[in-house]
Amino acid sequence: MRRYFEAFVSSFKGSLDWTWSSIIFEVPWYTNYFWGLIGISIVVWGLEIFFPWRKRQAIFRKDFWLDFFYMFFNFFLFAIVISGFYSLLGVFFKDIGLNEKSFAIIDLSGLAVFFQLLIFFVVLDFVQWFTHVLLHKYSFLWNFHKVHHSVKEMGFAAHLRYHWMENILYKPLKVFGVMILGGFEPDQAYIVHFIAISIGHLNHANIKLSWGPFKYVLNNPVMHLYHHSKAIPKGSYGVNFGISLSIWDYIFKTNYIPEDSGTIELGFPGDQLFPKDFIHQNLYGFRNKNKQTKT
Ligand SMILES: [Zn+2]
Ligand SMILES: [Zn+2]
Repeated sequence: MRRYFEAFVSSFKGSLDWTWSSIIFEVPWYTNYFWGLIGISIVVWGLEIFFPWRKRQAIFRKDFWLDFFYMFFNFFLFAIVISGFYSLLGVFFKDIGLNEKSFAIIDLSGLAVFFQLLIFFVVLDFVQWFTHVLLHKYSFLWNFHKVHHSVKEMGFAAHLRYHWMENILYKPLKVFGVMILGGFEPDQAYIVHFIAISIGHLNHANIKLSWGPFKYVLNNPVMHLYHHSKAIPKGSYGVNFGISLSIWDYIFKTNYIPEDSGTIELGFPGDQLFPKDFIHQNLYGFRNKNKQTKT
């Protein structure tokens, strides 16, 4: 029991210290997610301001500050709180005889750094795509994911507007992804994380960008806007589930981009009844089990 308690406290303290060191510039700049996130946000927001897709959308669009709060809550506050709990899982796995090598099917360690990063990126992106499909398919998960889909005007900060439960739901599959790689996280994994944050911000930005022929590989704002469309093809529970890569949607035929005016209505059926404030949005998934509309 003592080992669990110590693991919890040291991990909690570790992430608190790391975040604080990031804020006061005491960590190497390339692993500074705090200022990195702010930097990426400013660049993408600048692109929205100078090259807006929906010209009439305000710079401080609807829910700008709410999403801004979500961004820091999910990335830092929640991450600090939850890190202690994740460390408990690590100790538990060890106790039942599992380690990072238990599910290894690919050994990355002998490869060139570029291929290590590429495989790491692709495997993690796929498990996240799959998790995202589940969030839409099962109504009890969808009720948490509705927070992300309640955005009515799209902008970069909507990227990190999501229920904190999503962090928990994504985590086991992400861990499984890393375990397939033999628990191997490349030393330069921060490059992958920063690329993923940048693509995620761009996907939600008010910019018309589709990467030309690369749209079949890279997710983009045009494709992702349709993921947020209120009207989706009959009989489906969603389209364009891609996170950084769009290729999974093309492979599994969940791609859908009927036009690119950027003017479609966003949200989900019944979203006028969805709470508008942070607290109630976060309570929503835990209650109202029978009242909600499923899409
Ligand atoms: Zn979604
Ligand atoms: Zn989105």
